Amino acid sequence: VILPYSKPGRDYEFPGYSPQYARDLVYRLKHLKADVRIDIFERSIAGQVTLFASAIRDKTSWLEVDAVDMKISSVKLGHGTDLKFDYDGSKVRAFLPKEYTAGEEFALTIGYSARPKKGLYFVAPDEHHPERRLQCWNQGEAEANRYWLPIYDYPNNKTTHELIVSAHAQFAVISNGDLLSTRERDGWRTWHWMMDRPHSTYMISVIIGEFESYWEECDGIRLVYYFPPGRLEDAKRSFSKTSDMIRFFTEYTGVKYPYASYTQTCVSEFIYGGMENITAATLTDATLHDELAHLDFSSDPLVAHELAHQWFGDLVTNKDWSHIWLNESFATYFENLFVRNDKGEEEFIEALFEDLDTYLEEYRRRYARPIVAKAYTDPEEVFDMHAYPKGGLVLHTLMNLLGEQTFRRGIKLYLERHAYGNVETDDFRRAMEEASGRSLEWFFDQFVYNAGHPMLKASYSWDPDSKLLKIQLRQEQAEDSPPVYRLPIEVKIRSGLGETKRGIVLESKEQSFFFPCDERPEMVCIDPDFKVFKVLQVEAGVENWIRQLSCPHVACRILATQALGKEKSNLAVEALGRALVEEKFWGVAARIAKAMGRMGTTDAMEKLLSGLPHVRHPKTKRAIIQALASYRDERIRQPLLAIFSDTSESYYVRHEAAVSLGKAQAKGARDTILKSLDIPSHNYAITIGGLQGLSELGGEEELRVIMERTEPRYPTLVRAAATQCLGKFPGNLKVLRRIGELSKDQFFRVRVAAVLACEELLDQRLLSLLDELSETDLDGRVRRRAKEVARRIRKHLEKGTEYKVLREEIQEIRDQNRRLLERLSGGEIKGMS
Ligand SMILES: [Zn+2]
Repeated sequence: VILPYSKPGRDYEFPGYSPQYARDLVYRLKHLKADVRIDIFERSIAGQVTLFASAIRDKTSWLEVDAVDMKISSVKLGHGTDLKFDYDGSKVRAFLPKEYTAGEEFALTIGYSARPKKGLYFVAPDEHHPERRLQCWNQGEAEANRYWLPIYDYPNNKTTHELIVSAHAQFAVISNGDLLSTRERDGWRTWHWMMDRPHSTYMISVIIGEFESYWEECDGIRLVYYFPPGRLEDAKRSFSKTSDMIRFFTEYTGVKYPYASYTQTCVSEFIYGGMENITAATLTDATLHDELAHLDFSSDPLVAHELAHQWFGDLVTNKDWSHIWLNESFATYFENLFVRNDKGEEEFIEALFEDLDTYLEEYRRRYARPIVAKAYTDPEEVFDMHAYPKGGLVLHTLMNLLGEQTFRRGIKLYLERHAYGNVETDDFRRAMEEASGRSLEWFFDQFVYNAGHPMLKASYSWDPDSKLLKIQLRQEQAEDSPPVYRLPIEVKIRSGLGETKRGIVLESKEQSFFFPCDERPEMVCIDPDFKVFKVLQVEAGVENWIRQLSCPHVACRILATQALGKEKSNLAVEALGRALVEEKFWGVAARIAKAMGRMGTTDAMEKLLSGLPHVRHPKTKRAIIQALASYRDERIRQPLLAIFSDTSESYYVRHEAAVSLGKAQAKGARDTILKSLDIPSHNYAITIGGLQGLSELGGEEELRVIMERTEPRYPTLVRAAATQCLGKFPGNLKVLRRIGELSKDQFFRVRVAAVLACEELLDQRLLSLLDELSETDLDGRVRRRAKEVARRIRKHLEKGTEYKVLREEIQEIRDQNRRLLERLSGGEIKGMS
């Protein structure tokens, strides 16, 4: 049924990309012992690392160790004989004194010092931020631990390790595994940490700083939490569900949490949402929040994500980066499974739809690629929305295909068989095949090894003579996707006589299915529980969609909302307006508001306005406020101003009000925003919303305020937001120059924001800057983005794209980039690593 095809994707690869395969192993690293001194004031590290290894092949006479930008002082066999070595700035090549035979063991000790530019990061007070606390933390994944430790730095070797770190005595040192001892001498304290279970070296962690902490026990596992002093209440708010999560993942996978302890540490200026270092996750302190923020902000997704990695990623680990979905999709999907367990089915379906939206945004705006893609230049490139949400949805589809109990048996088999080992996608497929007895190559071919996704169009009709319901389904996916998917789909048919459930299997481009049905059906629900990853459009009349708005299935209500949003008829506006206040679930209500924003009719605006005082959930409120922004009507001004100034509203609701006031060009918006611009709020949400509102207003004074907020004396999150806002001031030489400066900022978030601003401006004068960034930036994410934006500008230059199209596209980019920065800033931390 599935014909041979190959859909490698679109716009993902750049010229010169070549396939990447896992490294060859010359030696097996079994244990690593690092004894180092980290000077947090000097931003330096020095010491020695001993690698306990064995030869894999006969006649092994030399070997290489990853070590970037270090001073290598010595290489010894054991701790004795000096060895000859070469060092080229990225690898130490050591020449052994004899030829080793396969299995023969040896130890190698490397003496070194470094002032790392990457991998190990130092946060320090400066003249602008004297209150900032000294901290040092690392980020190993993907290939950055080699900047501060000479090690074997590739995931396909698992080793135990010991980290003996000396730091100034006033600081704590937090690392993986067990703390064996500490001792103090001459103002320095030495911390001896031991991780006695094998793992890949990118999961090695070190954190130095002043922290408060508390701990608890969960079924014999010690759970430890470190956070900035004074934030105990906020920490408890963030971490309260950790025990529930451990129990849930243990129960679901049938595999116990594999280690004796689990530590979570919140650090400042972290460059991801979180990092799943083995037994010791590092999290951004942006996830800590007060009670007001807790109205519509939660740390649960982040905490669940990093914890799930302890099984998927840490216990079993991709053998190379092309299989990264084996880490990230699983962590993303298990995040959602915990939501289902914790908050129920509706929230679960909502989370899946959010994953679908996030993936589709990347698919539509940037590129399509197979989930397992060999071609990349930086490993960071494959940590994208294909690896996270898309892969998560594919796992969800597989779970439904096999049935949940079978899926769980397969997961257990996979985890137990490969515990403490490395995996590739075929290992997972084989475990699932064994557990289910089914052949699954077709499934992995269509979803994992090819780009794209199914795009289904459905229609149905009932014939009163034959009493048959005919459902017609067509597969209309784009060129970048396999032409035909095999998809089992559930259909529920509801009539006065009750509800029947039918299973159908799609396996050709177009198929019709007939079901006996004595009465005209009231509702026909196609995949009502969202069991299959796909984009679905159903052709049906307005009355049908209005009925479907009260369908018990969340997925059907979402579908109805989207369909009615395109109708613009009085009936549709009426029905959506009613549903907006009657809908019990915020996820659907928020989508209703969004659909009504797109309608653009006065009626829709009036319904949104009259619904606003009646909605409770802050996320629905945010959606209404966002939707109102598309109406430049005098009547929206007063309610939005009132919300913006209401201190009992959630920070994020007020944030949205500021943005919408600007977008709607509301009179008096500027003065109101300026008055409250710097009031404290979670992660500066109100300040950032204010800046975005100002940038929408777009005047000289607004620009001055925004430019000022890019200066170093403001917090990084504010500077990043202000930097991105510069993208709304086209053709201004001063702005272009400032973006140039900010693109070289020491903080990753600011640099990425500068690139996003370039994407909005699409100014050819930015090309040389972008080209430079795509070569020289230390962060793979910035390099990739810069490359894409430069390509986009060149494309527009070539085509001489019509101005109007360009404007529309820019508006879309703006909204999406705003969301992206929110995700990066921890506003919506949905599993950034
Ligand atoms: Zn992750």
